[in-house]
Amino acid sequence: MQGLMQDYPLTIDGIFRRVERMYPNKTIVDAVPGGEVRRTSYGAWAERTRRLGGVLDDLGISTDGRVATFAWNSGRHLELYFAAPGSGRILHTLNIRLFAEQLTYIVNHAEDEVIFADRSLLGLLWPLMPELSGVKHVVVMDDGTGDIPDDPRILDYEELLAAASPAEFRVTDEDRASSMCYTSGTTGNPKGVVYSHRSVVLHSMAAMFTGTLGVNEADRILPVVPMFHANAWGLCQAAAMAGSDLIFPGRDLSPGAVTDLIVKEKVTLAAGVPTIWMGTLPLLEGQDLSLRAIVCGGSAVPKVLSEAYREKIGLPILQAWGMTETSPLASVCQIVSTLAGRPEDELADIRATQGQPAPGVEARIVDPDTLEELPWDGKASGELQVAGPWIARTYYNDDRAPESFTPDGWLRTGDVATISPDAYIHLVDRTKDLVKSGGEWISSVELENEIMAHPKVAEAAVIAIPHERWVERPLACVVVRPGEQLTKEEVLAFLEPRVAKWWLPDDVVFIEEVPKTSVGKFSKKDLRERFAGYQLP
Ligand code: ADP
Repeated sequence: MQGLMQDYPLTIDGIFRRVERMYPNKTIVDAVPGGEVRRTSYGAWAERTRRLGGVLDDLGISTDGRVATFAWNSGRHLELYFAAPGSGRILHTLNIRLFAEQLTYIVNHAEDEVIFADRSLLGLLWPLMPELSGVKHVVVMDDGTGDIPDDPRILDYEELLAAASPAEFRVTDEDRASSMCYTSGTTGNPKGVVYSHRSVVLHSMAAMFTGTLGVNEADRILPVVPMFHANAWGLCQAAAMAGSDLIFPGRDLSPGAVTDLIVKEKVTLAAGVPTIWMGTLPLLEGQDLSLRAIVCGGSAVPKVLSEAYREKIGLPILQAWGMTETSPLASVCQIVSTLAGRPEDELADIRATQGQPAPGVEARIVDPDTLEELPWDGKASGELQVAGPWIARTYYNDDRAPESFTPDGWLRTGDVATISPDAYIHLVDRTKDLVKSGGEWISSVELENEIMAHPKVAEAAVIAIPHERWVERPLACVVVRPGEQLTKEEVLAFLEPRVAKWWLPDDVVFIEEVPKTSVGKFSKKDLRERFAGYQLP
């Protein structure tokens, strides 16, 4: 028997119609400079979003044209999130912190036809225009400051919107491309991932499962994670599907501004990379909070950070793991009921893992040499591979794709992990960050975690330094908390009881700050460059 269920397409315009119809009175909040906020209803937002679909028609953007954004997190950005795919076009979120060459590469590679840019960011974008061969228009979203060049290609968002007619959104093919995002390109040029309507809808549903993020109607969600960093982790579309309120921080991501929004806007779920939550902790302490989840991913969440949140505000951090290639939600670290009664210290260790695969995502670990699948015993470590309906099958127009996907269709994540018998994934390291010492490896992540447990340490990153005898040995780069003093000997003495003897770094250097990537992760690449040729004692 076949064909007894409806062949109903899973498309983003379905999410749009749902929020338009069911939650017109729910709220979108935009932080505007000066500590003020602007409130819009989803009803008013939906009306604008339909007219934005009309703008794309008026501008003559191809029916499957790439619509790029160069913007902070905002309600206007959310209009683009739905108007581009709703009208059949492809949303391309540009990372505003990429280097000029990378930005030029991805705009041209994606064949963007129009870029919607915040006025405050035009200064970064406009100088690249001579190189951006296919871009016909730059539409300026006025966020208060910045020069606007006098050029016929520059158009004003609000003027276009006022003149446009509302569009019908009706996509029928769920496999149609809806959006695209490039990896931040830690090695070589960024690689493009194209999401389908179906993958976005399924991913949104997955974010609503209670076993993952449990996004629901009562939530007030603050995506601190940029809308250009792996789709703000899918929170915007999930919020629209659930009818949650959305709070957008705009361009002020300082700890004070983020804390202010969390407190004043009674945020229930906030999401960002670890560096954000390191900064906000002292300010959140003692405040009257409505938070039920602080979602954190992008890099490993230090155990001490999660524990500090549990101790000081009563809520440990909820760790999630994913990649641009995985839409990005692939695993979330909720404590399952069978583990719930464990001692607090054990729970803290579990929370420091990347969690269980989300429903819909299959995970395996594979021996890189024999390609055999490894057991889920919490000990064997191998390359983490994932498969599922919102995991990329390939890269957009890129001959590097075969390196990242197995012949049987799994994504090779480039992460090394163990999986426990309870199905918790524990990321040991990124393959390229492991310290290969005498035929064995040392986890840089684990070492950093232990060093950051020292009360005088603000940040720590460990990199491999070439070594004549051992091939590579670890160098610890440590940032001391303001006003504190720390010596190499103290760091090593602190580590001694905590890690295997041969894991102890050969040297400790004190630095001002760990360099960060365009999405706020520790940039080991920059550290490796800085310490190239470093002589270990
Ligand atoms: P890029 O690869 O350019 O940094 P992504 O944001 O797609 O861009 O990064 C995905 C990678 O980030 C993962 O492969 C993993 O190494 C790392 N990552 C993401 N979440 C976590 C986490 N919770 N713990 C450790 N590493 C993480």
